[in-house]
Amino acid sequence: MAHVVVLGAGLGGTIMAYELRDALSREDRVSVINKGSVYSFVPSNPWVAVGWRERESIEVDLAPACKRRDIALYPQGAKRLHAAENRVELTDGTSVDYDYLVIATGPELAFDEIEGFGPGAHTQSVCHIDHALSAKDAFDKLVAKPGPVVIGAVQGASCYGPAYEFAFILEKALRDAKVRDRVPMTFVTSEPYIGHLGLDGVGDTKGLLESAMRDKHIKWITNAKVQKFEADKVVVEEVNEDGTTKTIHEVPSSYTMMLPAFRGVEAVRDIEGLTNPRGFILVDKHQQNGKYPNIFAVGVCIAIPPTGKTPVPVGVPKTGFMIESMVTATAKNIARLVGGDKPNAQGTWNAVCLADFGDGGIAFVAQPQIPPRNVNWASQGKWVHAAKIGFEKYFLHKIKSGHSEPFYEKLALQVLGIDKLKAVKFDDE
Ligand code: FAD
Repeated sequence: MAHVVVLGAGLGGTIMAYELRDALSREDRVSVINKGSVYSFVPSNPWVAVGWRERESIEVDLAPACKRRDIALYPQGAKRLHAAENRVELTDGTSVDYDYLVIATGPELAFDEIEGFGPGAHTQSVCHIDHALSAKDAFDKLVAKPGPVVIGAVQGASCYGPAYEFAFILEKALRDAKVRDRVPMTFVTSEPYIGHLGLDGVGDTKGLLESAMRDKHIKWITNAKVQKFEADKVVVEEVNEDGTTKTIHEVPSSYTMMLPAFRGVEAVRDIEGLTNPRGFILVDKHQQNGKYPNIFAVGVCIAIPPTGKTPVPVGVPKTGFMIESMVTATAKNIARLVGGDKPNAQGTWNAVCLADFGDGGIAFVAQPQIPPRNVNWASQGKWVHAAKIGFEKYFLHKIKSGHSEPFYEKLALQVLGIDKLKAVKFDDE
């Protein structure tokens, strides 16, 4: 009998627990440690920030589903992982021992790396539901007293889709409020070009996004390093190809929302052999750590090297479908280990993303994530907004039901020709 513990119950961790329950026997135990017992659907936060969603509509109480699926839930949160002792210390001083651990703790938001950055200082955020709700208050103030806006992603960020998404959603919300004509908008990004997305572009994301920004009168600055945020402006250094300063911009702003750089959470940081210098978990193609082979990791918390060199640091995004593919591979691999076999499943890590613009949007599929690719496709249209609502509804349904992959989801993915697991055969099989 094995005890498998999942650390973190966000987008990756919750379905991880459900898939483990399906992959293991009834005698094996599955536990989840999270900060709180509520699941919150992060991709809907940009909608919360303009009042298109309420908190209640994107959150799910995990307790009933966990109880139904025989998954123990520890809502205290982890204080520290003691990897050498196979033990997670909780914030109330108790500990949970494990045979296998899956880390799914998502990102810590590195606002402290830039002066004046973050909620509580001079900028808004959509990375957490609490931030999105206070961004909504700031949005109401902006509508009451229109002024310039800066949206984007700072140096070292790895999450660009939501920055574009929020720029277009805010633009639409300001149009609906009939104040768009009094809100100059600037998109500031560390990417070397618009539509790079941390993936060196997908299909024609450069052309599609530049055109959409021109169409909506959004100016942009690329290769941008933010020096500081102030109450009424953002000080941005635009750099040349070789990293030298091209221009210093002082961009006026009465409302700023920029995606921060991410790092690993404190409970798992600085563990020799487990994490890289920024605290991301080192895993191989089976989602398994080399030094601690009973530890796996999925989601934003894993270490992935950048696609290539850029003048300003640009990280690789970890999107929902890619995370689901890591989860499915991990469940299979842990089940194999419990059964005395070697791990053999590999997630595809394909980037499939829907970037909603409020009334339309852009979708892209990068297979594999790093170019050159077999599938390199991007498209736009009103259907993307509808598809994003579909993604939200059925992800939340999945979390509530306690089952990771309802039949129709499997079917839809197969129709698209997108698989979660790599069809490869290994020498060790
Ligand atoms: P999270 O969902 O952040 O979950 C991490 C969990 O770990 C949380 O529940 C947290 O409470 C818990 N945790 C952290 N520390 C501890 C601790 N010490 N002890 C216990 N628990 C802990 N991807 C898409 O595919 N489509 C989108 O439209 C999309 N939109 C996004 C919008 C935004 C604003 C952001 C930030 C990301 C978006 N993503 C999107 C990317 C990605 O899918 C999400 O970030 C996703 O939530 C990541 O899942 P995760 O499980 O890695 O982390």
